[in-house]
Order: sequence, then structure tokens, then C-alpha cells
Amino acid sequence: MIRGQRLFDSQGNEVCLFPLEYMYISNGPHNLKAIDFLGWNAEGRVYDCECYAPFSGSVVYTGNDHNMIYWSNSPVRFADGTLDYATILVAHSMTSPPSVGTSFTQGDLWYHTGNYGQSSGDHLHMEVAKGHVMWDSSTWTNLDSPYDMWNMMSVNDTTRVNDLGYNWRLYNLQWIARDDYLNQSEMENNATIIINYYRSIGLEDRTIAAILGNMQSESTLSPILNERGGGGGYGLVQWTPKSDLINACNTLGLSPYTSGDVQIQVIIQEITGPQSVRQWYTTQGFISNYYNSGATSDMVGISGDDFLHNTMNWPPEKLAIMFMAGYERPSYNPLINHYIQRQANARSWFNFMSGVTPPTPENRRKRGYNFVLFNRRRRFRNGQTRFFR
Ligand SMILES: [Zn+2]
Repeated sequence: MIRGQRLFDSQGNEVCLFPLEYMYISNGPHNLKAIDFLGWNAEGRVYDCECYAPFSGSVVYTGNDHNMIYWSNSPVRFADGTLDYATILVAHSMTSPPSVGTSFTQGDLWYHTGNYGQSSGDHLHMEVAKGHVMWDSSTWTNLDSPYDMWNMMSVNDTTRVNDLGYNWRLYNLQWIARDDYLNQSEMENNATIIINYYRSIGLEDRTIAAILGNMQSESTLSPILNERGGGGGYGLVQWTPKSDLINACNTLGLSPYTSGDVQIQVIIQEITGPQSVRQWYTTQGFISNYYNSGATSDMVGISGDDFLHNTMNWPPEKLAIMFMAGYERPSYNPLINHYIQRQANARSWFNFMSGVTPPTPENRRKRGYNFVLFNRRRRFRNGQTRFFR
């Protein structure tokens, strides 16, 4: 994990994460399934290396090796799917551990590797257990019911340099899809998937917030929502008619069209992809329809690439109008297109994003992405015709 990272499952439980940004095992499972890790970064070994709180919890014990035992506040999602309280013991930091009762939020700076006590070099000694497990007196390594670490800690955003081949896993969020409006926590689940993907392909955060703000107004982020009250719209951005989406998927060789993963790729292709699927129109004739709905003349001629990377350096609110006018093209009536609500949504998603994962897309990209969204690919078809929304 990386500093500040938070990850929730689709029910809103925290996902237990591996507490270091790099994994380098120096000593595989030994007594009570303990594993020793070296501090590491892109350049190599790091002493006194930062470790982050794998979940929100508090310190319940400290000992002579600057060891501490840490309990989750609530049940957390394990890498193997288990939902239970979690206990972690860590040891050897050079400085004293936080005192008993100190609490942390997932992603906080939590501990450091070190060489204090019964240690022969700077490292993090770690043991994990299922449930709230307490000290067993005889030796400081003694946690009851030890658990295989790879079955508890998901390794999202950890670079594995030396993982000894154990079954370390990424936690992948699942879309919540319902032909009805989603509530806030359900929207946040889907938004997290969208944010992860759009960041991975280099979209600017304010642009992502603008797209999310529009999606919220269109579909509450449910990829299978049929337009309420008729009208024939469908999906995250309410393609109208639904066949627009189906045709674009056929042209692009993506399926199924009902998948959120597919739809968020289609949107990008419709903004900057091949002319056969292009839905991005920013000529004066298109934009001016929305001059009474927040659009401004400097939006004329903005390219899809400009929008995706926010080369204009616009705030989320303005980008939300850009997306509405250049791509969504709802009613020209400001009372019906609800442009002010789209702007407010965009701002709140931008605020939300600072809590999902740290806003450091460059670093994240550099390390490569584990989040693969391409589902089943289909062969390209010949003789596609153009279609318009
Ligand atoms: Zn050890």
C-alpha cells in the first residue's frame, strides 16, 4: 500500500492491505507464521522505512522489542474473502512504538522498519492473526491463531520485489449494478473502480470528477440503469438510445455492453477514439446551446484530449459543463439538464478522490497498473457505419 491509501469492499468494510509500499521478504514464514521484510524502494534498500496502517485500529500492547500489537476497530476484508477482526504484531522499530490506546486510520504512517531488540539487521518482523488476539506471555512472538499473511493482506499498490511466490493477491472491487438508483455508498464503490481505471490511463483528477459528476446525474453510477420514466437511456452516461452503446461496443470489439468496465472504456473511445464511435462535439453550434446552462465560449474547440488531460487547468465544475455540452448533450433547458447539480456532484467527487488514494497518479502510473479492465475482446468488425446519439 501507499501512504494515505484507503480501500473498501462493496459493503463498505476496509480491505486489509500490506503495510509497505515495496515487498522484500528476507526471511519467510518462521515461528508462528511470522515473516521478515526489508524496507525497500525503487532505488533499493531503505532503513527506518515507513509502514502504513493496514486498516483502522488501535495499539493494544507494546513490548521490549519496540513491538506492538494492533487490533482493527471493525471487521476487515481479508485477501481470502474472510470478514473478521484482525490482529497484527510488528517489531524492531528504532523508536518506541505508539502507546497503548493510540488509534490510526487506514493509510496513516504507523510504524517503521528497524533493528531494535532481538534483531540482526533493519527489517519489519510481522505476524498476523484472525480475530482480536492478545499477548500470550511466554515469548514476544506468541500470537494465538496465526494466519498466513497472504490470506489476510491484499497487495494493492505494493510493488513486489521478492515475494517468495506465496499467493499474494490484489483486491478487486466489484461493480454494483442494479436497474434502480444507487445510494451514496454504492455510488462510492463504483466511483472507486472508475477512479482507479481513469487514473491508470492518465486522466487528470478534475476531469475524472467531472465525468463522475455527470454520471451521478445520469445514472447514479449504475451501469445497467434504464432511464426512469421512459426515454430509452441506458447505462452510466445514459446512452440514448441504448443501441448507441451496443453499436459502439460492437465497433470497438468490447463486450458485454452491460459491464461497467466496458462502458468506462467506451466513454474514452467516444471522446478521443476512432471517428466511427466519436461523440465529442465542441463546435460553436454544439456548445452555444448550453450558454444558458453554464457553458462558455472558451469551450468551443476544446479537443477530447484537452478535456481528458485538463490542459486548460479548469476546475471540476467547469469541466462538468464541458462534458455535459461536448459529450452528454442533454436537454438545453437548464431546469431539465440540472447543470448546477452536475457541477456540485463534480466538486464532491473531487473531494472524495483525495480520500480514496493519494492524488499521485504519476507515481502510480510509473509503477505499472494491476487493474486490468479489458474483459473479453471480440474481433473487429468490418463495414461499421457511423451513428450519432
Ligand atoms: Zn522475524
